[in-house]
Amino acid sequence: MRYKTCELQYLETLSRRTKLTATESAKLFALENGFKGELQLDLALQQAQLPPQLILTDLTLQYHQQVTQLDQLFCLGNTIYLSDAKNYQGHYLFSEHSWSHNGKKLPHNIFGQIDRAQDILGCILQENHLDLSVQTNIIFTNPAVQLEIVDPLAHSCQRIGAYRDYVADLVQQKLPLPQQSDMRWKKVLQAYQIPPYHLQHDFSRELSHRQLRPGICCSRCQHFDWQESFYSLTCQNCGTVEAKEEAYVRTICDYGVLFFQHDLKLHDLMHFFGKQAKENYLLRMLRKHFTHRTSPGKKRSYQNKGAIFQYLFANQSQYFHHIQQRVNWTQRTQYKNE
Ligand SMILES: [Zn+2]
Repeated sequence: MRYKTCELQYLETLSRRTKLTATESAKLFALENGFKGELQLDLALQQAQLPPQLILTDLTLQYHQQVTQLDQLFCLGNTIYLSDAKNYQGHYLFSEHSWSHNGKKLPHNIFGQIDRAQDILGCILQENHLDLSVQTNIIFTNPAVQLEIVDPLAHSCQRIGAYRDYVADLVQQKLPLPQQSDMRWKKVLQAYQIPPYHLQHDFSRELSHRQLRPGICCSRCQHFDWQESFYSLTCQNCGTVEAKEEAYVRTICDYGVLFFQHDLKLHDLMHFFGKQAKENYLLRMLRKHFTHRTSPGKKRSYQNKGAIFQYLFANQSQYFHHIQQRVNWTQRTQYKNE
């Protein structure tokens, strides 16, 4: 599964609670666009029926002091296929060895990332005596993009539909039998893997000059006004009814994403949840769903993994689904009795 980067999780969470700066907005837009494009790449491989064990997605590799990020990579036959998604809009022209966008020359090379990834990958393969060639593909994932390529390119450039067909053909021609597939390439690359880029500072150093909207944010309409009953919260704006347990745990995760350098503490969370929060209930949720940290002489705190609810509680999705069903069922019964 492909995950949103920590920076994307941070900016999305932040955008619901404060006005983003122009830089943050631009970054959020670029990251969201990039992520949508990468999901398209994953979908293309799935549709081409390439077995998932032959694929590596979203890989950050370090070779000596060089670091590179790879969107997607798979191996068939004696070739590693390295693909980079470009979720671009508008008219792109490649001529006289440079790119223009909507008639204006681009100051940077849009192949920079894949050039670098190809170089580093080549070094790693050579150092580990893996006799594999690297085939690079730039995939334009937005169907509305206009592409005009006049000069020959160093990389193959395709639209997403053509890419899916291309991979489906490769699967037909080259798919090894499971017992014949040599997976050494995967182990070698994973040995060079490092954690993905993370922001250097969390929101705590912005607190002196920026404010966050406190409370539980509706996941459907992003409003903050709720009517509370024993097991559920009803959004006053869109009418969404959410199990109280999930709403609290989800909001604790939001805090965790924005303050990823800090442990979870009841006092700070009460501030984040605002006036409507029930301290006893919040404490119960912390005890039930988060790992207690014991540091002598310090206030009780809980481990912060700094990720959004969907990722952190993916393994408990059945549990939360079940309590939501119970809430829905109670709602329906009440409605009938009225
Ligand atoms: Zn709502």
